[in-house]
Amino acid sequence: MNAAVYLGPGVVALREWPRPSAGPGELLLKVRGCGLCGSDIAKIRSGRVTPPAVFGHEVVGDVSEVGPGVSAFEVGDRLVVAHHVPCFACHYCRRGSPSMCRSFKTVNLDPGGFAEYLRVPAPNVQHAAFRVPKELSDEAASFTEPLACSLRAVRRAQVIAGDLAWVVGLGSVGCLFVQLLRRCGVTVLASDPVPARLALGKRFGAEVFRSEEALGERARDLTGGRGVDVVLVTAGGRSVLPGAVSVVRDGGAVHYFAGGEGEDLPLPLDQLYHRELTVTATYSSSPAELAEAFDLLAKGQIQVDGLMTHRLPLSRVAEGVALMVERQAVKVFVTGEPS
Ligand SMILES: [Zn+2]
Ligand SMILES: [Zn+2]
Repeated sequence: MNAAVYLGPGVVALREWPRPSAGPGELLLKVRGCGLCGSDIAKIRSGRVTPPAVFGHEVVGDVSEVGPGVSAFEVGDRLVVAHHVPCFACHYCRRGSPSMCRSFKTVNLDPGGFAEYLRVPAPNVQHAAFRVPKELSDEAASFTEPLACSLRAVRRAQVIAGDLAWVVGLGSVGCLFVQLLRRCGVTVLASDPVPARLALGKRFGAEVFRSEEALGERARDLTGGRGVDVVLVTAGGRSVLPGAVSVVRDGGAVHYFAGGEGEDLPLPLDQLYHRELTVTATYSSSPAELAEAFDLLAKGQIQVDGLMTHRLPLSRVAEGVALMVERQAVKVFVTGEPS
């Protein structure tokens, strides 16, 4: 079969890849498409993964083979599947850190969503596979995983109704954050340097700002000088932190939903300590959040219109990466077609 194969730092190209098959408890999916995630782009550009490899974990596909013992799904079902499943039993799982479970990343789609077919391992069939209703498009269904990660981030940031939040970055995840926060009764200010993204953020319910200074001023106006309760960082890495710390209220929190290769965070210990600030982070989600996210999308309670700006075949994944890096695409949907 064909796959978009990572061949080394910055290089992805269409190559032959052995087609897997479904073993006991497993499924084989013919991929309809897969969202291109910021984490895929980071892996492609950083050289952190040993090539060759196939990425992609925001997958929608049709069941084409059902392994022995699977009764919940049949050939032809259109499913959304996610990549990692925890063990549900270890200390990490019991203490609310399922994404730190040592089994979490050992369970993976084979090879990945940027391929014509993929094998869904048994734990994923059990805990991270959802039958997509007719009304939900492939593109919308593929937001299940990013929405689940966003749900986990918003939970971890511990907002309550009446809070004021600042969402940094209005890419697809930023726009999901805006909607989830609004659902919690939070007033949302959001910033992004790209005008088209400000328009998106506004449509999803945020008051938007191109300049952080103007946003800071507005936050202080709205709160009698106190500042925002929480800052959720989806882009910008370390450079965002000094501004975030100046706009967050005493006792408030900064949540990072974005890594950055080798970046240290510049936060004076004195501020962290005397102002009792909290810095949190999340990078993934649990099966419970996947189920909840899927439900929100299926019921139309979270909107993703306007977020998937490009559809590209497997042979054009490199182009999709460039479009997202240059911020010309909000999000790219890679179809299971070779070209
Ligand atoms: Zn993702
Ligand atoms: Zn575990």
